[in-house]
Amino acid sequence: MENLDLVQIRSEFPILNRKVCDKPLVYLDSAATSFTPQYVVDEIARVYSTCKANVHRGVHTLSQEATDLQEATRESVREFINAKSIQEIIFTRGTTEAINLVASSYGSLLENGEEIIVTEMEHHANIVPWQLLGHNKRIILRVVPVKKDGTLDMESYRSLFNERTKLVAICHVSNVLGTVNPVKEMIAEAHQYNVPVLVDGAQAVSHHKIDVQDLDADFYAFSAHKMYGPTGIGVLYGKRHLLKLMPPYQGGGEMIGTVSFKKTTYAELPFKFEAGTPDFVGIAAFKKAIEFMQRYGVERIAEHEKELLNYATEQMNTIPGMRIFGTAPQKSGVISFLIGNEHHYDMGMLLDKLGIEVRTGHHCAQPLMQALKIDGTVRASFAIYNTKEDVDAFISALRRVAAMLG
Ligand code: PMP
Repeated sequence: MENLDLVQIRSEFPILNRKVCDKPLVYLDSAATSFTPQYVVDEIARVYSTCKANVHRGVHTLSQEATDLQEATRESVREFINAKSIQEIIFTRGTTEAINLVASSYGSLLENGEEIIVTEMEHHANIVPWQLLGHNKRIILRVVPVKKDGTLDMESYRSLFNERTKLVAICHVSNVLGTVNPVKEMIAEAHQYNVPVLVDGAQAVSHHKIDVQDLDADFYAFSAHKMYGPTGIGVLYGKRHLLKLMPPYQGGGEMIGTVSFKKTTYAELPFKFEAGTPDFVGIAAFKKAIEFMQRYGVERIAEHEKELLNYATEQMNTIPGMRIFGTAPQKSGVISFLIGNEHHYDMGMLLDKLGIEVRTGHHCAQPLMQALKIDGTVRASFAIYNTKEDVDAFISALRRVAAMLG
């Protein structure tokens, strides 16, 4: 595969030129949010200054233009994940809202005593919405444990199904361990019991080619801000027949057919789930972010990131006391680690002083931290614009920090 032109790519992200603590910026926190190419930022400004008129409600030219832009993005997203129809693409505020939508809408169809299978490596966004369901009825969460190397205990997964299982909710890629879960196999297993599967794809869409039909996923959730796009926009993909069964998530404008005090009917998909004015400007710019990824190709981007991941891992393993969490054979995007018993927060603060931006803490995965018997890690993550020089700077800073902390 042809190498990426990193000089050209980096020039599209002016933010990379800024300094941190008077040092050149090395950004290793793209798993939290990735940077945005200038032409995506420019598209936001262009829409604001040319056709910021509310979507779907006007016959006038500006409203039509804004609507066309929003709907063009819906088609781009459909194509990007190979969904069958644009009716299956719902815009949300992010992965979190997409999962909350399913929890509150599909969840309302569940009965007392029914069960949902999740895993120990889930982000809080794929745990708490299911727990909230339990405020009104008794919904039981069954949890697939994580093995030492950061892979799921698949035997345990298979053993958790019974006649009360109504949903599986799993991440495609762990935001802490980087483990790429065998979601296609897990979905096939669940479908043998007629159980639908929601995949939290927040950490997968920018590193893997996603084909929701090939995976046979029933729901797939992700956020634009982790794929070089604007903040505050996400996508819920859902199979049409399931979305049709489900009641609306929120009420308001846009999601209705007709309203009277006697009876209200709902709009067709996907609008039934899109109450109120969406961030149509951001949605328009999201199309440009998808184009950016398509220009380089997700597979090529993934290969580049994998090289960086392997290069960093090799060098990190030469640092005395290094403890890397997550050594699954199928791994992408992130490396979580600690050095000896040093606190992740101290390491993060010192790395920042050297211009290295990493994330520290529990990464919104406290149940996983409890399983690992730690309270947090340092996490470095990679994106298209990172270079081997970034990794070298990171490793050299890490050695200095380890020495400083003794
Ligand atoms: N799931 C995973 C695996 C994540 O990494 C994140 C973001 N850290 C989320 C869900 C939530 O995404 P958002 O905050 O964009 O809704």
